Parts: sequence; structure tokens; C-alpha cells
Amino acid sequence: MNIFVKTLRGLKGLLSGMGLTFGYFARPSKVITQQYPENRNTLKLPERSQARIDLIKNAETGRYNCIACGLCVKACPNNSIELTKFKDPETKKFRPEKFVYHFERCLVCGLCVEACKFDALRMTSEFETAAWSPDDLVEILNKDDPWAHDDKSDIGQQTAPDKNEQTASPARDTDRQEHTGAEEKTIQPKDRSPK
Ligand code: SF4
Ligand code: SF4
Repeated sequence: MNIFVKTLRGLKGLLSGMGLTFGYFARPSKVITQQYPENRNTLKLPERSQARIDLIKNAETGRYNCIACGLCVKACPNNSIELTKFKDPETKKFRPEKFVYHFERCLVCGLCVEACKFDALRMTSEFETAAWSPDDLVEILNKDDPWAHDDKSDIGQQTAPDKNEQTASPARDTDRQEHTGAEEKTIQPKDRSPK
């Protein structure tokens, strides 16, 4: 290939790239890149963006849809969900006593949401979640349930699962039993330690 043809091809590539640049310059609404954080108030996230998980509430009853089946706990590849449950004497159904989300371990893979058959879990786009300490990333997702509290002092049983261990403190047991009159059970994650 002679030098003339090579130069022509190079020029064609250059003009095509510059055409694209000037096209975006003339029509800024077509630009995909967003100037974050300057545009924080007008930021548009794609519909399918996902940043962390959250529990879903039933709009009519105001209760979480979660029936504490533990499918999400077992589906999670990184033991990021810790769950204790109790039987609600009113509805005779299981409910989460404490649904603990370890965001510091979460891979944002969405497997827990896929595993949930009860429309109880979703991925949210909430991405401004930076914290100074991994402990600050641990959250009780049902903390507005009257028995759950936002006390994280007894969290962390999943790293060393013990079948006989209860995750709720005696004080919180008393509180929950006052609300529900029920006893709790702990759902353990799958053991993924190397054999
Ligand atoms: S998104 Fe993935 S890593 Fe995070 S809690 Fe769900 S299953 Fe676990
Ligand atoms: S799979 Fe759904 S219903 Fe079952 S414990 Fe998880 S969030 Fe609750």
C-alpha cells in the first residue's frame, strides 16, 4: 500500500472522529457523560442501575413483604445477609426479627433479589454510600419494625455460624416478645469455606 492511500485513510479516520466530536458539541443533549457531582440535583441514573439492596414494604399493610424464608441468605455468595426470624402469632407467618445487610461484603450481584420469590427484596440505585468504617456499612433493613431497633452490637454471627447461637440480645428478645409474643430462629448461610 503506497503512502498516498495510507494518508487518505488516516485523514478519513481523523475527519470521522472530529465529525463525532463536533456533532456532540452542536447537540449537547446527546452527550452521555454526566458532570457529577456538579449535576447532583439533576442526575439521571439508568433504570437498570443497581447499587445496594433494600426490603420492600406492602403499601396497604405497611409491613415488609419478607417472610424470612432465608432463600436470599442461602443465595448470597458472600454471606452479606444475616437473618433471624419469628412466628407472628397474629398472622401465623414468619417475619424477619432482624434483617441485617452487610454492605461492606456485598458484591451487588443481585442474586438475593433473584432468589426472593415474595417480591420482598429489590436493588436500589442509591450509590452515595461512602463511609469511614466498614462497620458503618452494616444496616438493619427492617430497623423501623418496633422490635428490630438500630442496635448493631450483636451483629456478626455469620462469620462464625453456630447452630445453637441466637443473634438477638435478651433485651431485644423481651422487646420483640412484647410486640409479638413469639420466639425467634436464626437462619444460617451456606457454608462456603474450602473443604
Ligand atoms: S447483591 Fe449479591 S452479594 Fe449483595 S447481598 Fe445480594 S446476593 Fe449477597
Ligand atoms: S428471600 Fe425474600 S422473603 Fe425470603 S428471607 Fe429473603 S427477602 Fe425475605
